[in-house]
Parts: sequence; structure tokens; C-alpha cells
Amino acid sequence: MSEIAHEVAQRRTFAIISHPDAGKTTLTEKLLFFSGAIQMAGTVKGKKGGKFATSDWMEIEKQRGISVASSVMQFDYREHVVNLLDTPGHQDFSEDTYRVLTAVDSALMVIDAAKGVEEQTIKLLNVCRLRNTPIVTFMNKYDREVRDSLELLDEVESILKIRCAPITWPVGMGKTFRGVYHIHKDQVLLFTPGQGPLDEVEVIEGIDNPRLDELFPLEIEQTRMELELVRGASHPFVLDEFLAGTLTPVFFGSAINNFGVREILDSLVDWAPAPGPRDATIRAIDPTEEKFSAFVFKIQANMDPRHRDRIAFLRVCSGRFERGMKFRHLRLNREIAANSVVTFMAQGREQVETAYAGDIIGVPNHGNIQIGDSFSEGEPLSFTGIPYFAPELFRIARIKNPLKIKQLHKGLQQLGEEGAVQVFKPLNGADLILGAVGVLQFEVVASRLANEYGVEAVFESTSIHTARWITCEDARMLADFEKQLVNNLARDAADSLAYLATSRVNLELTQERWPKLVFHATREHA
Ligand code: GDP
Repeated sequence: MSEIAHEVAQRRTFAIISHPDAGKTTLTEKLLFFSGAIQMAGTVKGKKGGKFATSDWMEIEKQRGISVASSVMQFDYREHVVNLLDTPGHQDFSEDTYRVLTAVDSALMVIDAAKGVEEQTIKLLNVCRLRNTPIVTFMNKYDREVRDSLELLDEVESILKIRCAPITWPVGMGKTFRGVYHIHKDQVLLFTPGQGPLDEVEVIEGIDNPRLDELFPLEIEQTRMELELVRGASHPFVLDEFLAGTLTPVFFGSAINNFGVREILDSLVDWAPAPGPRDATIRAIDPTEEKFSAFVFKIQANMDPRHRDRIAFLRVCSGRFERGMKFRHLRLNREIAANSVVTFMAQGREQVETAYAGDIIGVPNHGNIQIGDSFSEGEPLSFTGIPYFAPELFRIARIKNPLKIKQLHKGLQQLGEEGAVQVFKPLNGADLILGAVGVLQFEVVASRLANEYGVEAVFESTSIHTARWITCEDARMLADFEKQLVNNLARDAADSLAYLATSRVNLELTQERWPKLVFHATREHA
């Protein structure tokens, strides 16, 4: 095996998807703890200090004194290199969240077992489905009164349309939570709150072991009954189905009590895929190819408030990145000398020495890099699948001081290119229209316009309900459409034509009237 192939085979790149409060932050911290990347004393208390904390990791950082300062964390586990990408999922749910999922090879879905499948989990899982991303499921909070476990599996199967293969099964819950039965190993792992990575979990061999009846007769009897039903109602774990994204292994536990965390890390290392080939338009790129390639899935501003730095996050797709190497920014057809490329470790930002497919590297960006940009050693690649989603929220951007109109346009142009918000220029009319999927995006944009561009903007509501990007093979028909519906059309930051619908009915009627046009709910980068 080549050195590159060896490195690629060791990589696991994943993100956690969950609804707010399901336990993503807690679990992130515990994964780092069990990998040895951080030490731990007590637990992270409270949540989200500032409204603009773009990442829960900042909270971990503040309380731990470690430097997370980014949305990517690399750590080692069982001789593997694990890259965990943060999905800014929470109140500040935004387009970033979606795009991060294009950069991972698997996802860990955390469900609050007291609540079941919640709204944002559904949205995020739908995005994973666009790429058939394999999903590992963790049912969290079994130290509390939670819902019936079979019912939870049923809910995942029916709402998320993914088959469940329980790997462990809970014994009791809440005050009588005793541990989990590991179905594959035929072992009961006893629940002891707060064990660390070096502590031995107490194990009882065999579900019929009489010792279990001595310890907790009621709970084990219940578990045995449930297991009968589980065998009938659920699915056996089949690796290929997991890799195809149609079946999810399910684990049970309690993140806050460190219980079930090791099994998750093991499942990622044992089952989750190493980086695979990626489509780059002219051909598919294999991760083990000699030549370096990468694409940008995220741009983060103001990571360090002392410098006005913006970092472009590149997912490496092939080859070996080495410090000091040169590579090509393909859209601008320009060489980039990557001297100050950074990587993201639990100990803080470091200069990257080497990186391989699956790794994330950060390139300082002075406005030349956009989401979706591809990089290579020269071959004209264009990685696909970095989507823009039709916004669900719209505002008209206005300013208090009309003399600042130029700054407003410049600021919005740049923020649009960064992907902080989508900016639409109506074909008819001077006001810029902003589109977002999360309402906090507007607040972030307003604050950045003020701080970085000196523009006081106000965002007014509009009657726009949704947007669809328009394509049509018949140029004449497209021109006709543009002429007739000029008042409903706009161009986005990449100059793509979009129809701004005032309601779902309006959209449907327009689609019916123009059957030859294609109305896209997602757009890939230009
Ligand atoms: P996030 O919003 O998904 O990042 O969720 P957090 O990790 O911040 O957790 C939300 C709340 O649930 C916090 O108060 C946690 O302490 C709590 N929590 C997380 N895991 C568990 C668990 O296993 N059991 C219990 N009882 N609470 C938990």
C-alpha cells in the first residue's frame, strides 16, 4: 500500500447532527475525552454565552481553557485519525450547517430519547441523504425517564426513513438505568456514571446470566422481553447497507455520564468509511491519487477578533498536502503559496505539516476564495455537490445613510460570496434582497456590516415566500420568461437567475404555466 493509501485508510471524517439540546456539545466533549485529546474535570455547564457564539465549541473552549477556536477538530483514536466537524446546528441554524455535511464521510445522529425525532434532525438527515452519507445513531439521556425504546426505533424508521439495527439495547432507564446489553457481543455493560477512558467497564457475559437476575431482576426481565420484540421488529446490522446510508446502527447511553461513548468511537473506526472518491466534473478523484486536490465548504470570519482574519476551510480530497507547497485556485486560475495554512487540533491552531484526504485545512482568505471553489496541482477539477439551498426567509436590505450605498453593496457582495447569506439583485429595482435559512443569519450580517463595512443596515420584511433557481435549455423561452416575469426575478451572487415566489401557490402556478423551465430548490456553486 502506498503511504497515501495507508493514511487515507486511517481517516474518519464525520459530523454530529442533532436537534438543539439533544446533547451534541456534551457528546463532542466526551468523544474528545475518550480519545485522550482533552482532560476533563467536571462537565461543561450552561450554554452559549454570547448570541454570536458561532459554535458550541467556543463554550467548551472557554470552560476548558483549550483552544478549539474553529469548527474542526482532529484527534487520534485507536491508530486512526478522526476529523470531527462542528455543525453550527442550534439556534443559529444556518446554511453553514448544510454545507459542512458535504465535507464529511459519515454522521453521528444524536437523539434525545425523551423527545424522539425532532425537527432539525429531520432537516439535517435529509441533507445527509443527498449524498447517502452513512449515519450512526446515539439515543441519549437514558439516565432520565425516556420514551419506550422500541417506539423510538419505530419513529426513526418511519419519519427518517432509515432502517435501524440496534447494536446495544438499554437495561432500564432513569433511576433504574442499569446499563446496556451489547447484542453483538452478548454482554451486559453495567452503567457506572462518570467513568473515564481508562476505567474498566464492568461486564456480565450472556443475557441469561443469573447474576443479572440477582442484580436487577425487574429491569433484566423487561430487557429480555424487549429483545424478543427487537429481533422481530428491527434489522440486523449489514455493513453495506450502512455504507449505502439505508441502515443505521443504533447505540443507547448517556453522554453526560460518559456511558456509551466508547462504543460510538469504536463503531466509527470499525464501520464508518474512510474517504472515498469524489466527483470533480471532469472525472472522479480517488483519495489515494498522488496529486493534491481540495474544495472549500465553509468560510469563517473573525475567528480571531484581533486580526480580521477569514479562514477558508478546505476538505482535502486527494494526495498529500505539505507545508509550503503551491497549489492552484482553479476558478481564478491563480497559484496559491500555502505558507500559512493551518490545521485544527485540540491543542489549538497549528501549522499544517501534512494533510491527506478527509483532513480539513484552513487557508487565510482575503476575499478571493468562495464556497465551492476547487483547488488542485493544475488539473481543472470542479468538485460538485456543494449546494446552496433555496432560502426560507427573506429581507430587503436598506440603509439609514444613503451615502453608504456603495459600502452596503460591497459588504453584501462579499458576505454573499462567503455564504453568510444569499444576496439577490432583482432584475427590476434597486433594493437588494437577502435570503437565509436561519433567522440568525440576518443578525450576523447586520452586525458584520456595521463592524466591517461601517454600514448601519435595516432589514425589512418582504412578501417573498421562497426562491427557485431557473434553468432552461430553450434560450428563447428563457428570454420570454425573463421579460414577462421581470418583477419576480433576481440574480444571486453567482449571477444565477432565481424566481422569487410570493407563495407556494404562486410557485406552483408559475411552474404549471412554464413547463419547460426547471425550477431548482438547490443550486450547486457556479
Ligand atoms: P446541544 O444543544 O445538542 O449541544 O446539547 P448539550 O450538550 O448542550 O446538552 C443539552 C442539555 O442536556 C445540557 O443541559 C446537558 O447537560 C444535558 N445532557 C446532555 N447529555 C445528557 C445525558 O446523557 N443525560 C442528561 N440527563 N442530560 C444530558
